[in-house]
Amino acid sequence: MNLSKFGEKFTGNSGILQLMDDLGNAAAENENVIMLGGGNPSHIPEIQIYFRERMRDILENDNQFEQLVGNYGPPQGDREFAAALAKLLHNEYGWPLKADNIALTNGSQTAFFCLFNILAGAFAHGPHKKILLPLAPEYIGYLDLGLVDDFFRANKPEFEYLDEHTFKYHVDFNAVSITDEIGAICVSRPTNPTGNVLTDDEIDRLCKLAAAHNIPFIIDNAYGTPFPNIIFTEAKPVWNEHIVLCMSLSKLGLPGARTGIVIAKPEITAAISSLNAVMSLAPGNFGSAIALDWVKSGEITRVGQNIIRPYYEKQAQHAKTQLQKALAGYDFYIHKPEGAFFLWLWFKGLPISSQALYERLKKRGVVVVPGQYFFPGIKEEWSHKYECLRVSYAQDETLLNRGLEIIAAEVKKVYQESQ
Ligand code: PLP
Repeated sequence: MNLSKFGEKFTGNSGILQLMDDLGNAAAENENVIMLGGGNPSHIPEIQIYFRERMRDILENDNQFEQLVGNYGPPQGDREFAAALAKLLHNEYGWPLKADNIALTNGSQTAFFCLFNILAGAFAHGPHKKILLPLAPEYIGYLDLGLVDDFFRANKPEFEYLDEHTFKYHVDFNAVSITDEIGAICVSRPTNPTGNVLTDDEIDRLCKLAAAHNIPFIIDNAYGTPFPNIIFTEAKPVWNEHIVLCMSLSKLGLPGARTGIVIAKPEITAAISSLNAVMSLAPGNFGSAIALDWVKSGEITRVGQNIIRPYYEKQAQHAKTQLQKALAGYDFYIHKPEGAFFLWLWFKGLPISSQALYERLKKRGVVVVPGQYFFPGIKEEWSHKYECLRVSYAQDETLLNRGLEIIAAEVKKVYQESQ
């Protein structure tokens, strides 16, 4: 089949597609595989009970179900939900939001596709623009979103060593340069894959830089506050006219509902709405319908605070302690887990690549994600890219323990073989 450039780009054998296939196949071929590689949230019973009850209410009340499945929503997503969310965020943080500051998408992944391609790529005048990722490692899902090649600029981080085995990345502001080639700045906070939470000062400085250059600052809040609130440090949530805040219902426990939320000035939400209309007529209705009551009552923030955050924080501490015990005496670092649900492991001077380690772990029935995919925009060779692994701790404790034991045993074997 003769494909357009678009067709080639989005169906071609990019590294990320191969990796996703590989992850999927590993799980399909071996039902006992310990999956510490995916982005699925935990199935937290209290949360799932609520979703089930809410679904039952929808089925039993008047014609709610028929409305839900029988009608397209508006292209900017359900307006009642948007108004309720604007009110909630105003009450919680004082942000001056109205419903037209909010557009919904079919998952926040779709929102990034739209945002990145309206803000970067080819322009009628001037150079091709790029998305600046001021701190890589950054989210793997951005990697292939550009309609054109050479879509990202990224900066290597500064390292802060917190103790013998813990470190934290910071934005290296000396390296951040906003030229007229940059169309927008983007960070995930908390960051997938590292669990980093950029400090308030870093966010403030990036926001000021974006404002000074009149470009949007996109903050990917898929794991952040006020929901799902998988964030273990004190970090001030921010929004203003320069910020495009992207949220999602996925990590709350609804990845199957595919609901992304873009909070921005109306010019941007209107553009998202137009793209929704072209690409899918309207975003799906399910996610906003299931979460509506929680948003209206504000329960969604309490659930984040009282159930979701403590749940993942416990998992993070547990996973970190297990690994530290299992790898005692070896040279390894873990990024300080400040949020999201991943441990980012760094084996400085690892004798094999993290890809080879991933293959070896897969043979032993444990699936993780090798680190090199998380550096979109960093073109230069840098050994650090090949020394890291992302390990999800969203699995239940028994499987997680077994998986971490196998990872530690295999890493030890790698070091022993190299002696
Ligand atoms: N952003 C980050 C940092 C993520 O980890 C994910 C999913 O794993 C997404 C965005 C996309 O999430 P969704 O499309 O399910 O809203």
